[in-house]
Amino acid sequence: MKIAIIGFGAAAIGFIERIKDEDHEIHIFEKSKDIYSSSISGIRADGKLFVSAEMGGDLEVDVGLQKHLVDFYINKTADKKFETGKSFSNRNYYKQFYENGFQPVISDFYHLGTDQLKEVLFNIYKDLESRPNVHIHFSRNISHIEPIANKIILDHNEQFDKVVVAVGRSGHNLVKGIINKFPELIKDNTKVDLGIRYEVPNHIVEDLNKEMYEFKVRYKCKTGYMVRTFCNNPSGYVVTENYDDFVTVNGHSKLKEKSKNTNFAILTTVQLTYPFNDPIGYGSYIAKLTNILAADNKVILQTYNNFKNSKRTKNLYRVQPTLDSNKYILGDINLAFPRRIIESITDFIDNLEHVIPGIANNDNLVYAPEIKFYSNRLCNNKIENLIFAGDCSGETRSIIYATAHGWIMAEEIINHKI
Ligand SMILES: Cc1cc2nc3c(=O)[nH]c(=O)nc-3n(C[C@H](O)[C@H](O)[C@H](O)COP(=O)(O)OP(=O)(O)OC[C@H]3O[C@@H](n4cnc5c(N)ncnc54)[C@H](O)[C@@H]3O)c2cc1C
Repeated sequence: MKIAIIGFGAAAIGFIERIKDEDHEIHIFEKSKDIYSSSISGIRADGKLFVSAEMGGDLEVDVGLQKHLVDFYINKTADKKFETGKSFSNRNYYKQFYENGFQPVISDFYHLGTDQLKEVLFNIYKDLESRPNVHIHFSRNISHIEPIANKIILDHNEQFDKVVVAVGRSGHNLVKGIINKFPELIKDNTKVDLGIRYEVPNHIVEDLNKEMYEFKVRYKCKTGYMVRTFCNNPSGYVVTENYDDFVTVNGHSKLKEKSKNTNFAILTTVQLTYPFNDPIGYGSYIAKLTNILAADNKVILQTYNNFKNSKRTKNLYRVQPTLDSNKYILGDINLAFPRRIIESITDFIDNLEHVIPGIANNDNLVYAPEIKFYSNRLCNNKIENLIFAGDCSGETRSIIYATAHGWIMAEEIINHKI
């Protein structure tokens, strides 16, 4: 069979790794100009590899396969060095959270480091390049896909028996073009995560930060919504993130320069039903409304007590923000966020106080808007020989889950299931 893979990211790597020894002619089309500039976004940016049955994507991936893929990446480094750790392996922590209604998210992590990751990618590329049945084409930004009589045509001229679209989030233009033409491919596009970035003094979460690298919990709150923590940054900084027409908050931590605060996101998953079909529109409007109130492309900062009681914040007390003072205005997030979302977040924080005393202090800081968009979930059985793998399929959100999705799709082809 002649198979095309569009994108050379994590999902493509998993796919090729599983299928490369079979008797198929494989063509990889990557829009970047070479392996050094090829994105593989997460692998380049940070490269924390998680093994978890509870996070990383919506599909079920056997943890044995996840660990196998982590080992695959580690084995592509020169000296096989990595940092590793576990979340919630301490039973006391687990029980404390569990007893208060939280669902602790258990995961093992392996951190390879940016320098080693460049090496990993290069070694994967070198191995594939040396194979006579694998052809890697850089500087090929695929913009058109046409299914015709059991074949798929790329950019009006090249014909393949199967095409795997593995373009991640950066390939949304290609995916948008495909779903505009074939809307029946969309399985689900009803979810968006809306919330805040929360900032507290380090000493309040010191023990937790020491115990685990990434503190992830979920909580079904009184509104019925699921609320979760995301992206914990010990001694970190709050920053703003610019989209085309709105600004949101985010957080990060630096290796050398440390702040006195820890920040993390608290996100409410909003999942609406038919006829709703525009989660990106919904999330963007709330973000824009928050920006309109703050003016000048700023975000809103409020103390926790004022956030809870819907009062505009005019002064701060003990906790000083790490976000640059030109980027926020003291205000009231309640004027922009739906009540149900505010109630979900305050229920989450007040309940967390039972496990982490001080987390609901009046003067802790709340920044808004923080929003996470999901890709549309796409069907893999509606158009013959056209397969979506990794983040662009809406099924995955991490390096290991995307790699595993590619692997699983290759296995299905080998077993003639798709
Ligand atoms: C800043 C950042 C940090 C992250 N850190 C982590 C982390 O530490 N751990 C973790 O598990 N996850 C992390 N993630 C998420 C992770 O990167 C993704 O879940 C994963 O890379 C998805 O794999 P993918 O193959 O679906 O897409 P990608 O890895 O993004 O690969 C898609 C490829 O397709 C190419 N492409 C796009 N459009 C086209 C086109 N039209 N034609 C040809 N080629 C195209 C792109 O150039 C890219 O190389 C991070 C994400 C970001 C943005």
